[in-house]
Amino acid sequence: MKARSASMSMAVDSNDLQSALAEKGLAISISPEKGRCLIAKRSFTRGEIVLLQDPYVSVLDSASVNKRCDVCFRLCTNLKRCSVCKTTWYCGGTCQRNGWRLHQHECKAITSLKEEKQQTPTPSLQLMLRLLIKRKLQNAGFSCNAHTICDSELRPMGTGLYPVISIINHSCFPNAVLLFEGRQAVVRAVEPIREGSELTVSYIEIAASTASRKKSLKEQYFFDCKCLRCLKVDTPDGLHEDAILEGFRCSSDHCEGFLLHDPDDAQSLVCQLCGCGRNEEETKKQARKVDKLGKEASKLLSSGNYSEARSLYEQIQQLQTQLWHPYSVILLRTGDTLLKICMELYDWKQALKYCRLTIPAYERAYPTCHPMMGLQYYACGKLEWFLENTLEALNFFEKAAKILTVTHGRNSEFLTQLFDRIQEAHAEAAHLRPRYDDNED
Ligand SMILES: [Zn+2]
Ligand SMILES: [Zn+2]
Ligand SMILES: [Zn+2]
Ligand SMILES: [Zn+2]
Repeated sequence: MKARSASMSMAVDSNDLQSALAEKGLAISISPEKGRCLIAKRSFTRGEIVLLQDPYVSVLDSASVNKRCDVCFRLCTNLKRCSVCKTTWYCGGTCQRNGWRLHQHECKAITSLKEEKQQTPTPSLQLMLRLLIKRKLQNAGFSCNAHTICDSELRPMGTGLYPVISIINHSCFPNAVLLFEGRQAVVRAVEPIREGSELTVSYIEIAASTASRKKSLKEQYFFDCKCLRCLKVDTPDGLHEDAILEGFRCSSDHCEGFLLHDPDDAQSLVCQLCGCGRNEEETKKQARKVDKLGKEASKLLSSGNYSEARSLYEQIQQLQTQLWHPYSVILLRTGDTLLKICMELYDWKQALKYCRLTIPAYERAYPTCHPMMGLQYYACGKLEWFLENTLEALNFFEKAAKILTVTHGRNSEFLTQLFDRIQEAHAEAAHLRPRYDDNED
């Protein structure tokens, strides 16, 4: 969902920061295991904004540079380009003026780079350049990771440095969520947060088994997660959860039991519901074959060969259905890929089929109030609406709104759009219902 790279570590000017945070009901504390933590000094309700921060510096991705304003990150159809460097785009005079303090220095550097080397700087180089300029202007030091800035649907659009946001530690069962409005970072509580508890967000995709989560955290952030969810890895509960998220299915066709190692036979997995056995080595071998096909399919997909990619992914899905637990994230991801491919091919009917198919696995893999869950309900609703299934659409829109109100905020542009759709669907449904009643007579 978001990538942070460990980088640029400097000292924090902690006095200013502590008093700014105290006003917001927050404080930094130092824990022996985790280092800095952000602590709630009052309670926060679900959906309440905990923290807002504009980036210290930010930069758009290459793909977004000429689609979004460099300063406010809004999508805009008539952007104006800086007439000197011709690489930075603005939605209008206000943003250009606001960006000028930084850009006047950067502009010269970009122009000379273009003249000497005939190239424009990459986003990461530009981010470094902006950081250097800003530090020179403000003479300030700070410690910070780079955050990927995403739009409301969690698609990456740029990178920014958010010194305060990066104090928030990770949990695999977080009580807050970090999203962006334009380039402003917004942290909202997704659970009621009690005074004295630590604020946490998740740095990684949390729909994954404990082993996979630990691996990504170790590789990307260099720490061992000790959150409650990770600590229960060897308890019956933890084993159960992992055996569903990334475990094999029961060899009996209609059984939805999960498998654990047979205590009497290390080679064998046993269904905890019906007792059927399954040879582990054999199953792993089959899984590796399917993985190979997956690599081929992903190549087809990235080369834009959607039709061929679709038939290969359909084949993969068939094979995976025989291997993995029906609620596994492995099947969930294949379903999502097929959904995206069908959207590219404008095949709304099939897209809806895959979207619906992923819903039970989403509900199992994500906490009730997670942006990914809300967005998937929303996607399903839009497809139902498009295919004129008004009542189904309304049902999904309302489920989406319940979650996205908390994660994105009731007053955000994104939610306003969703509420408009709900209203439209309500009007349409009211018009439909009498007809249903007629049929019943
Ligand atoms: Zn702008
Ligand atoms: Zn310029
Ligand atoms: Zn964890
Ligand atoms: Zn079974």
